[in-house]
Amino acid sequence: MIEITYALNVVGIYDILRINYVKSIIMKKKLSSAQISRINEISSFKSKKVNKALSKALELATDSSKKDRIAGRKCACCYYTIGYSRIAGAAFTEWNCEICGKLSIYSNTAIPKCCDECSDNYDLCVECGGDINMKNRRK
Ligand SMILES: [Zn+2]
Ligand SMILES: [Zn+2]
Repeated sequence: MIEITYALNVVGIYDILRINYVKSIIMKKKLSSAQISRINEISSFKSKKVNKALSKALELATDSSKKDRIAGRKCACCYYTIGYSRIAGAAFTEWNCEICGKLSIYSNTAIPKCCDECSDNYDLCVECGGDINMKNRRK
């Protein structure tokens, strides 16, 4: 008698598992080919974005264009444009150097923070005005 009950119970559990399995197949509708194309389109876009971010990170980590970066008087953060990209309007813009106050005219609206001379004299990034090597200084 115990053996029969045990056997029935096993069958019962088996049936419930089987029903749930069948249900899950029925409820999970197949995606349309248009939906699959859309999913693939997004995934491919995101995957390219990640690869681009990783290669940017590698460029930053290795400072792969250090010569050009220093020649352009920019810190690594600004040079490799980490986090944001500057949007510049196409208009000649007057600006004052934040260090010496000299008035200059820049070719677009993304004006520098300091002039080339101050960048050279004080090792500053022209774009953000911070230390060109992103180092803290005491004087
Ligand atoms: Zn200056
Ligand atoms: Zn900078």
